[in-house]
Amino acid sequence: MKVRVRLAPSPTGYLHMGTARVALFNYLFAKQNNGSFILRIEDTDKERSKKEYEEDIIKSLLWLGLKWNEGPDYNDYSNYIGDHGPYRQSERVSLYKKYLEILLNKGLAYYCFCLPEELEAQKNYLISIGKPPVYSGKCRELKKEEVLKKLEKGERHIIRLAVPKDKIIKFNDIVRGEIKINSSIIGDFSIAKGLEEPLYNFAVVVDDYEMEISHIIRGEDHISNTPKQIIIQQMLNFNKVYYAHLPLILAPDRTKLSKRHGAVSVMEFKKMGYLPESIINFLAFLGWNPGTDKEIYSLQELIKDFSLERIQKSGAIFNIKKLDFLNSYYIKQKSADELFDLSYEYIKDFIKQESDKDKIKKILEVYKTRINKLSDLPTEIDFFFKDINYPKDLLRWKDATDTEILLCIDKLEDTLDNIKEEDFNRDYLSQVLLKEAQEFAKIINRDEKDRGYMLWTLRVALTGKKFSAGPFEIMEILGKKETIRRLKKAGEIIQKNSNGNNDN
Ligand code: GLU
Repeated sequence: MKVRVRLAPSPTGYLHMGTARVALFNYLFAKQNNGSFILRIEDTDKERSKKEYEEDIIKSLLWLGLKWNEGPDYNDYSNYIGDHGPYRQSERVSLYKKYLEILLNKGLAYYCFCLPEELEAQKNYLISIGKPPVYSGKCRELKKEEVLKKLEKGERHIIRLAVPKDKIIKFNDIVRGEIKINSSIIGDFSIAKGLEEPLYNFAVVVDDYEMEISHIIRGEDHISNTPKQIIIQQMLNFNKVYYAHLPLILAPDRTKLSKRHGAVSVMEFKKMGYLPESIINFLAFLGWNPGTDKEIYSLQELIKDFSLERIQKSGAIFNIKKLDFLNSYYIKQKSADELFDLSYEYIKDFIKQESDKDKIKKILEVYKTRINKLSDLPTEIDFFFKDINYPKDLLRWKDATDTEILLCIDKLEDTLDNIKEEDFNRDYLSQVLLKEAQEFAKIINRDEKDRGYMLWTLRVALTGKKFSAGPFEIMEILGKKETIRRLKKAGEIIQKNSNGNNDN
């Protein structure tokens, strides 16, 4: 059997993480079985489907690296790749019509003219007496001539499937095992609003058959549709399909995932500065795990190790901290050049001249170990590019007095003045200053191991920040002149804000 799987998103919203996970699992399964991954756009809902969403879906999947073998052309979306097209349901209407007519002619489907109010009342009544709210089957009994007359008159209608009563519908879900349901609780459900307006359950079955889909891997929210789809398949004598329903994605508090928890679109994650490899790695673990300690997985490794059989039944927890961890890992793996390109949007405002590019690359080399996402960069590194300001007390380590801070700054200036430009690098600076910081603590009668009296003050003078990279690498990037300038400025801040007694 040739493995053919599909992602069938409805373009009624941006591609969110849940659908991206479905895409990934389908993609992995296809790749490891030498099969085909098909992208089918399910745009039967004319009011809610938008081109903008379709484009977002396509772009997001491509950004994640999940390329399909058949579906819209990667560049010219109005074209297709693959020989089972078109891959947009709105362009397959004649096909659905053909199968609707087959069912109608065989009496396996029928026109229903019941009014919405009537159906609503019926449904409410059934619910009130604790019965499944299925359709009564009233229009199933209509004579052919009556139906024709009503159609000629243009009476509002839908098309329903004549579902056999009391039949057990069974299927073996790869994740959830055997699932059984009695057809009587489904009732005669609607499959189309008209011959040219198929509804989801019907169009899906026709497409999955026509596109020779072998396995349907999709979210658990579709599990209640599966028996309906199987009934349609059986009526049309279509082949059986294998099913795997993926567990729901839940927020850390096990409630339904909402925007608040990060149920945002893939492109929003991109904008926040997450890398596609982090998202892929993260999504793979939403409902699957390798059964080992291995946490870092590239797409290639996933193709090797992923298996549908290892998908869990219970809900998968969406933990953004895990994503941050993975993202910081993948950021660290990048070279400064790669990071420069990837984070261009966030750093471009810092580039005033050509030499700033090299400076930024040096900064990225230092800062890539300190960020979770690329969007953290501007606020982390802005101090390199602007005049900094900070409250005087930030310069103070523990109980240091203003006088001591000024002494510290003086000493630093002296020492740095005597270091040659060519020695102004982190290794040499750390060698000199670590020793000096120890001596300084002794001079001011503090524990000589407490280098903070000098190094904290130095680092704040350079950055104006409570947290930053270490002072030596920052000094190397700022250069001797700027470093000394910032130290002088720190001295001024202390002096300007000190009250006569020069103490804290
Ligand atoms: N179009 C459906 C959706 O976006 C998916 C259909 C399916 O996977 O069967 O939820």
